[in-house]
Amino acid sequence: MFESLQDKLNKAIRTLKGKDRISDINVAATTKEVRRALVDADVNFKVAKEITDKIREKALDQKILIAVEPGQMFVKIVHEELTALMGGQAEAINIKGDPAVILIAGLQGSGKTTFSGKLAYMLKRQGRQVLLAACDIYRPAAIDQLKVLGEQIGVEVYSEPDSKNAVSIAQNAVAHAKKSGKKIVIVDTAGRLAVDEVMMQEVENIKSSIKPSEILFVVDSMTGQDAVNTAKTFNERLNFDGVVLTKLDGDARGGAALSIRQIVDKPIKYISTGEKMEALDSFYPDRMASRILG
Ligand code: GDP
Repeated sequence: MFESLQDKLNKAIRTLKGKDRISDINVAATTKEVRRALVDADVNFKVAKEITDKIREKALDQKILIAVEPGQMFVKIVHEELTALMGGQAEAINIKGDPAVILIAGLQGSGKTTFSGKLAYMLKRQGRQVLLAACDIYRPAAIDQLKVLGEQIGVEVYSEPDSKNAVSIAQNAVAHAKKSGKKIVIVDTAGRLAVDEVMMQEVENIKSSIKPSEILFVVDSMTGQDAVNTAKTFNERLNFDGVVLTKLDGDARGGAALSIRQIVDKPIKYISTGEKMEALDSFYPDRMASRILG
């Protein structure tokens, strides 16, 4: 992932690297190249401009022109700014309540069901009692998909195959968890191919009826700028707590990871990097910045 952004950034920065001395002209040209690399990687233009303005200002402020290794110093500044852009600190999910409820929302195909399974597996490995709730009543295969995953990871899946009422399934799942001593319920909801009023209303209704302590918005990182727009729409309706970026094992250009925090002002909490149940990582902005810079 990020190969092309990595290449372009490194190419931009390389012009400063071996130099003993640089001028403000070098800094301006390199900064411009960095901006171009970010925009090419699908980073929102405004975000790319803001960050590169900061990089240039910081570079000149820190007397980079007379530094012993100006290139190294520049790389450090870019790293710091990329980290800050992605939120600075890693942020954990909120697990509160008995049981704690985690609501998963996003478009169809974004990777919600897969992620629900992965999160359940991660929490199970931490020794927690988890229940998965299948509330995607529109996609017939969704319930079976979750059941297969549940079996694979050894986590119970609550479903009502004959019900067409997602809110009541969610409520019943929470009641079932309480009765059976499960401490966390992960609720997988329905998605549509595009943002749709009926879907939004349904997720909102589920939210108000089961009061999750954490709402995670799942988005396919391959969708670039669209990922950011979809995040904005979901956030306006759901006021979610965190973002899950999926399919970062593909050739996503990375723009979503870099712009989403800035545009939506919600932290990325997990990244999903494959179809296997183990392919889930907590999101660390500094590690991601290091990965991007190679
Ligand atoms: P949902 O409609 O949002 O529930 O999406 P699914 O969980 O069914 O995922 C849609 C497709 O993307 C499936 O074929 C998944 O196996 C695949 N998928 C999900 N997450 C990832 C990921 O991180 N990497 C890759 N390569 N594929 C993924």
